[in-house]
Amino acid sequence: MKKIAFLGLGNMGGPMAANLVRAGFAVTAFDPASAAMEQARQAGCASGATAAEAVAGADAVISMLPSGAIVRDLYLGDQDAAGLLQVLAAETLIIDCSTIAADDARQLIAAAGERGIRAIDAPVSGGTAAAAAGTLSFMCGGDAAAVAAARPLLAAMGSNIFHAGPAGCGQVAKICNNMLLAIQMVGTAETLQLGVDNGLDPSVLSDIMKASSGGNWSLQKYNPYPGVMEGVPASRGYSDGFSVALMLKDLGLAMESASGSATSTPLGALARNLYQLHGGDDDTLRLDFSSIQSLFRRPVGD
Ligand code: NAD
Repeated sequence: MKKIAFLGLGNMGGPMAANLVRAGFAVTAFDPASAAMEQARQAGCASGATAAEAVAGADAVISMLPSGAIVRDLYLGDQDAAGLLQVLAAETLIIDCSTIAADDARQLIAAAGERGIRAIDAPVSGGTAAAAAGTLSFMCGGDAAAVAAARPLLAAMGSNIFHAGPAGCGQVAKICNNMLLAIQMVGTAETLQLGVDNGLDPSVLSDIMKASSGGNWSLQKYNPYPGVMEGVPASRGYSDGFSVALMLKDLGLAMESASGSATSTPLGALARNLYQLHGGDDDTLRLDFSSIQSLFRRPVGD
């Protein structure tokens, strides 16, 4: 499998496609944004003028898109245009890495299967830094043979490849992980604020908790308190990370799943509400999700 089409060359897709090129795959890219296309060309991708042109002759199609509606329109078609499933050859492998609803993933995989096209859902964890470093974690849903066929491609972009279960299970794993991440980040932020408001240095408190039973990923890798950790969004004004908007999307998907399965997720619902309260304007929605720390900071002198 050598000829790859890559659709959606944004913050995640751009570096993922670049890693495929580095690993020796011939990648043809398509993104409606000209800046994204220019970066893809600089990374060594060929370019398609349309998605249909980019997928012509491809052994595999990888997509990294913002929403389920866009994924559905692209592959299944909308009122104005036929979807890519109409033009892909049987045996083509679709790997959709976008974070979308599990039901959307199942619909795509079933429709592809009816045409003899193999498809898996393979959302990722790790963010833009892992996308650039080629160390993403992939959570795959679909049949075992299709996941096995995708492995050499995924291995060029990531270091962990999990087969979560049948179609849609990758998306379920992804929203479970991100719901826990949101809960843990909110808990870490309010705890750090409690320590600071009671006279502790946030770096000292972080070191203590990292080595104690409160230790968690946010403290280890992604401290939300400004100035505690170098190289994380909190130390650059919460820029260039995983946006509040994307976290809200994932928490919305988690709440839809919880509602569908009648599962009680009180902490997930609370985390979603806190993120909604925090992301009240467009500027905040663009900030990294660890900016939830600012919800707990009190004005000086308060
Ligand atoms: P992004 O907005 O930076 O990139 C999305 C790209 O898709 C854009 O360049 C856009 O022009 C392009 N696009 C839109 N419609 C298209 C179409 N019809 N055909 C081809 N391209 C199209 O978003 P991102 O941060 O790269 O995120 C992509 C996906 O990865 C999302 O589903 C997100 O939830 C998920 N994700 C993001 C992160 C992160 O840290 N940013 C981490 C894990 C998962």
